[in-house]
Amino acid sequence: MIGLSPRSFALLALLGALVFVLATSLRLETPSRAESGPVAVPETTTSSDKRIAFSFDDVPRDPGAFLRDGERPGLLLEALRHGGIEQAAFFVNPGRITESDGDADTVLRYAAAGHVLANHTADHSKLSAVSAGRFLADIDAAQVWLDGKPNLRPWFRFPYLDEGGTNRTKRDAVRAGLQKRGLLNGYVTVDASDWYMENLALAAAKQGKIMDWNALRDLFVESYLESANFSDDLARRTLGRAPVQMILLHETDLAAMFVDDLAIALKEDGWTIVTADEAYADPMVSMIPDVEMADGTRTQMLAAERGVGNRWYMRNDQKVAKKLFAERVLRE
Ligand SMILES: [Zn+2]
Repeated sequence: MIGLSPRSFALLALLGALVFVLATSLRLETPSRAESGPVAVPETTTSSDKRIAFSFDDVPRDPGAFLRDGERPGLLLEALRHGGIEQAAFFVNPGRITESDGDADTVLRYAAAGHVLANHTADHSKLSAVSAGRFLADIDAAQVWLDGKPNLRPWFRFPYLDEGGTNRTKRDAVRAGLQKRGLLNGYVTVDASDWYMENLALAAAKQGKIMDWNALRDLFVESYLESANFSDDLARRTLGRAPVQMILLHETDLAAMFVDDLAIALKEDGWTIVTADEAYADPMVSMIPDVEMADGTRTQMLAAERGVGNRWYMRNDQKVAKKLFAERVLRE
């Protein structure tokens, strides 16, 4: 063994440290392909101001065309996690929940995963078809079930986005009723009629038709991405700024299968996914539209109020949606 003075030991230690630093920096500068492993997808690729939150209506919704009984909630929660959607809003119809169907547990499972619950009436009443009194009673029936549940928010989503149509008296009676109850209109701004795609898929399955899964995913993702950008453009033309968008989906098989693909596509397009709480903290919450026809998305109604044109996203036209589904998913 060679004897070392404290000074030469210190020099050697310094030299060793230098070699280590040099080696580390060289390695950092020139990583080999074999060692670099899988490439992480960045959260967002641009620093755009586009923000969007997610919501699911009609909880619990009827079975769809693809998943087995009981499969949907777990898959949906996994897709939300995978897509980086930390807090979505689930608008519940408690009139569809019975003691024995396990749906109450499903709703609580969504809340336990960090998502929030809100009112969608007990029995999914259509405001244009019932009196204001009956409609408010349906809201109250839902609230009885919801009160005391975890992660409950004081939000109400109009079934069919029907806020009273052309009947202003009824519209105003329900608006006053919501205010009296401390409920906020849980409006939407982005829609691409996933419920209709689900209907088309159910009809195709019933007829034994073969559906192209990848084409269905692409159609779903592409339609919602387009609709989000359409609403972003409409909002900028209407308000001169970019409000937080609120996307309307339903608790369907399609959502459980594809919502993570949609979230990833939105992020790649420069969108930031935010919580439902952040969406309903937007100043748009207090902009109550006074329009001829109270229905549809809030962006549409605010645009109509200001006479802004080109307000309707094309694929919410069922003829257009049906044709696309037939061509791309059924290859007809
Ligand atoms: Zn609904």
